[in-house]
Amino acid sequence: MADWQDNRVFWDEALKTIQHQVSEQEYVMWFQQIEYSGSEQDTISITVPSSFYRDQVKQRYLDLIQTTLLDLSGRSFQLEFNITRTEIANPSNSRVRSANGSPHFPSPPVRLERSPEESRKRVAPAPGLNGEYTFQNFVVGDNNRFAANAAMAISRNPGTTYNPCLIYGGVGLGKTHLLQSIGNAVWENNEGTPKIVYVTAEDFTNEFIRSIQENKTHHFKSKYRNADVLLIDDIHFLQKKHETQEELFHTFNALFDAKKQMIFTSDRPVSEIKDITERLQNRFTRGLTVDLQPPQMETAVAILNKKAEKQGVYVSDEVINLICQKITTNVRDLEAALTRIIAYAELVNKEVSLEVAQRQLKDFFSSPMQNNITVDIIQRVVADYFNLSPSELKGKKRTRQVAFPRQMAMYISREVTEASMTDVGLEFGGRDHTTVMHACQRISSRMRTDPTIEDIIQTLIRRIREEGSRA
Ligand code: ADP
Ligand code: MG
Repeated sequence: MADWQDNRVFWDEALKTIQHQVSEQEYVMWFQQIEYSGSEQDTISITVPSSFYRDQVKQRYLDLIQTTLLDLSGRSFQLEFNITRTEIANPSNSRVRSANGSPHFPSPPVRLERSPEESRKRVAPAPGLNGEYTFQNFVVGDNNRFAANAAMAISRNPGTTYNPCLIYGGVGLGKTHLLQSIGNAVWENNEGTPKIVYVTAEDFTNEFIRSIQENKTHHFKSKYRNADVLLIDDIHFLQKKHETQEELFHTFNALFDAKKQMIFTSDRPVSEIKDITERLQNRFTRGLTVDLQPPQMETAVAILNKKAEKQGVYVSDEVINLICQKITTNVRDLEAALTRIIAYAELVNKEVSLEVAQRQLKDFFSSPMQNNITVDIIQRVVADYFNLSPSELKGKKRTRQVAFPRQMAMYISREVTEASMTDVGLEFGGRDHTTVMHACQRISSRMRTDPTIEDIIQTLIRRIREEGSRA
């Protein structure tokens, strides 16, 4: 018998053994995603979804896997990790019309499907939650895979390993969706009426203040301290709210001791939330922290296909691709653009054609909503971050100290405004468009080798948006 067949048996057996040794949550999260992909003599090749997964599995479980294999086979195996290439349905044929002419939608690349067993469970949303925010409606791509898997694992076993969980990511990237999906799934999977409490940090604060004014703090405390699952959205709002922070700290401790699950979201890393007590900061990050990134093209396409499908409207791949090329900020903007195009087409009773889409997208970009970020704001924020003045960014100096921030500012200007290379050049002291092009290329290539650059850019973009929304 060929060697690899023997080894597959060992692998399968090892998984079964491991399943009994780790919690269900850990198993689902880390082992169910692994695929056996072959073997040679003493090496077993497995495939995992991302390099993040590979590193985590190696770090946490390599020993366990190797000893289990050794126990079962009497042989020392090396493991070779491969990373799955994301399977992308070819965008040009990802949707075809069915015989009766109505659109037919095959599955987008990855979807969280319900098993038949799950389909028998109740489906109504948990009280106070939005029924659209479910795992089934959440498209998983490289940008959110880890967060989505963690969220699903938590919903299967709330209050155990990953408590609390902190989801962070920029505006419109799916934090609220994922947070409420956990609540809805816990509600669906459990009989009885688990107390699932969802609240934004802002409402939590207001309710708390009102309870003090009305002498009803005991009501407030009992509502939050008796939750089975507490979901608090946008905790960055707690900045400077000292009394509310104090109250939340005690709520946290009560729930944590009672092994009740808590999940928080934030639009920035906790370390960047200003004016928040250290002990609360420390509580937020005590469990698992996961982040959401903007989707890449393929995932964006899958998300919009799903949204169009839900609205029961046929939108061609050309149009979907156009939207995804033009809008790279976040999912909320993508959705808004799609809705706008569909609404317009319906209003004028036209098909959602490429022309309609192009015209609507043009208006979309010139609408004030997208347009309050200017190169001027970008220059101010970037200059401030690097301790320079905006005029230095626009000036002639070419020392490293100024050149790098200037390139960053140019790059961000191209990313978050509709200004052309020529426009950007003009805003930076009348430079030529080739200078801007060169700057963007430099930043992109440095980003590939130095991950901290991406972090700095994300931080800057967040501040720029904050400035923009105040403008
Ligand atoms: P946030 O809370 O991070 O600002 P939301 O959760 O409100 O973002 O998401 C904005 C919109 O984008 C919602 O309509 C949500 O359903 C949608 N969305 C975000 N990510 C996804 C995804 N991966 N799949 C499907 N829809 C998504
Ligand atoms: Mg939100």
